[in-house]
Amino acid sequence: MDLNYSSEDLAFRDQVRAFLAANLPADLQQKVRKHLRLSREDYVRWHKIVAKQGWVAPAWPVEYGGPGWNATQRHIWEEECAIAGTPAILPFGINMVAPVIMAFGNAEQKAYYLPRILSCEDWWCQGYSEPGSGSDLASLKTTAERVGDHYIVNGQKTWTTLGQHADMIFCLVRTDSTVRKQEGISFLLIDMKTPGITVRPIIMLDEDHEVNEVFFDNVKVPVANLIGKENKGWTYAKYLLGHERTGIAAVGRSKRELQFLKKVALKQLKRGKPLLDDPLFAAKVANLEIELMALETTVLRTICQEDQTPGPQASMLKVRGSEIQQILTELMIEALGPDALPFDTRYLEGKSEHAVTGDDDNAPLAAYYFNFRKTSIYGGSNEIQKNIITQMILGL
Ligand SMILES: Cc1cc2nc3c(=O)[nH]c(=O)nc-3n(C[C@H](O)[C@H](O)[C@H](O)COP(=O)(O)OP(=O)(O)OC[C@H]3O[C@@H](n4cnc5c(N)ncnc54)[C@H](O)[C@@H]3O)c2cc1C
Repeated sequence: MDLNYSSEDLAFRDQVRAFLAANLPADLQQKVRKHLRLSREDYVRWHKIVAKQGWVAPAWPVEYGGPGWNATQRHIWEEECAIAGTPAILPFGINMVAPVIMAFGNAEQKAYYLPRILSCEDWWCQGYSEPGSGSDLASLKTTAERVGDHYIVNGQKTWTTLGQHADMIFCLVRTDSTVRKQEGISFLLIDMKTPGITVRPIIMLDEDHEVNEVFFDNVKVPVANLIGKENKGWTYAKYLLGHERTGIAAVGRSKRELQFLKKVALKQLKRGKPLLDDPLFAAKVANLEIELMALETTVLRTICQEDQTPGPQASMLKVRGSEIQQILTELMIEALGPDALPFDTRYLEGKSEHAVTGDDDNAPLAAYYFNFRKTSIYGGSNEIQKNIITQMILGL
């Protein structure tokens, strides 16, 4: 197995780098690199720039507007974006609901929704989790009762990422409660402007409004918004979760953050010398860098082995990738010590040009640390990923 890039891959990487150098707006890049908060407009602006280039949906088939890249090219694109510091292309439309619509939607649904996802005309959010139904998702209780040519939806979703901006939500709903729990679930597309929907913020540890509760009170949804067959939603939900990509390891972003950590640790002084030269701290950084290199090799191995989806190996990438992301933020806080304490929301939200503490690099790092506690929970908690590894990879 040759894990080195071919000359074609390297030429492709140059092309990507040239595109990013010419098209990534400096203000967006600064926000991302400095760990500041992004607005809806920031995400949409970057999405539209990449969509204009035809690269916004790397894994889509060409017939729907994908660029026709192979797995290595998709990996290079993700890596280069992360290293450059682009805003994320949010996964809910492009990587989550779109593959389900392509595989199980009807011709009208494909013709209507896919171009709108590509152009970011619709901002999507994911309505899977409910209070009491996260890891045990199949126990979900939100009901959809068929009345004529509509469903009447009642219940609650939770942890809905960026749902406050969303035009559409894809939901798992219970359409039959008399059968085995997996067999009574359907997959519905719901317009967030429908009367009866209430979105309430959940404020995270870093005081950011990133997730929400979404309540459904007699919400009328046309039957035309059902994907595939009634009560087959669990199959579609599993298909969606199986579409996790190798990008879940976030190696590119961690590489960028490692450089940032080194920059911070060079500026911090311990007994008059840069902290990065302190043997104990330097060893922790070196250890992390080795772990990151090992993870990158695992990602490349996965890409070489399978051209499509990594299957249960994605669980390994998720666990290790999220652990490394969290250790990075822990070392940033360790490097700063008491300097991490001030919490400057105005600077984080771009309302003031500089941090009150006087150090723009350091000011957002405590919020960043708190925010990244989420990585071992979302996308299926790490304990659940470890269950998958033991059962599906180790065969225990
Ligand atoms: C920041 C963030 C964003 C999110 N965004 C979305 C979103 O947009 N849409 C959406 O639908 N959901 C979203 N989620 C929800 C996420 O998928 C769930 O939080 C996750 O699946 C865990 O479910 P839970 O929170 O209900 O915890 P629980 O399932 O109650 O688990 C609690 C603890 O028990 C452990 N545990 C549970 N079962 C087992 C088991 N069988 N074996 C071992 N350990 C177990 C878990 O690992 C966890 O530590 C988001 C979550 C977060 C934190």
